[in-house]
Amino acid sequence: MKHLIGSILSEHTTMSSLGDESPLFFGRDGYPCPDSSDVLFNIVDSNGIHSTRVHFCECTPDACSTQLLKAGFFPATVAQPQMAFSFTLLMGFYKLNREAKVSTYNFIECLTHNSTGLHVKVSKSLYAP
Ligand SMILES: [Zn+2]
Repeated sequence: MKHLIGSILSEHTTMSSLGDESPLFFGRDGYPCPDSSDVLFNIVDSNGIHSTRVHFCECTPDACSTQLLKAGFFPATVAQPQMAFSFTLLMGFYKLNREAKVSTYNFIECLTHNSTGLHVKVSKSLYAP
């Protein structure tokens, strides 16, 4: 599943093209679940911030946040997450922060610049409470 989402995110460089594609499916190794509902979702990855539709499997005992974790994404909230960060992004930030002293603010600004061409307006919602 992690590879599936990673390849989808790397193949699509614009938010609109990602949004026009099929939704991402969690909880069943990337396969659609007949008992799932469409959720608008923001995925933050090392190549930018993506707004897309996702489906969480509703016939598994795993919560949405658990399904995200199993697929390699850290949910922004535990209950009813609407945003998640890839483990790749978080590890990249950890290394930049530790080795190059890149601040969280500057890292978010860089991500926003990567997404600016995608017409994404999320920098304040990512950094401010
Ligand atoms: Zn299911």
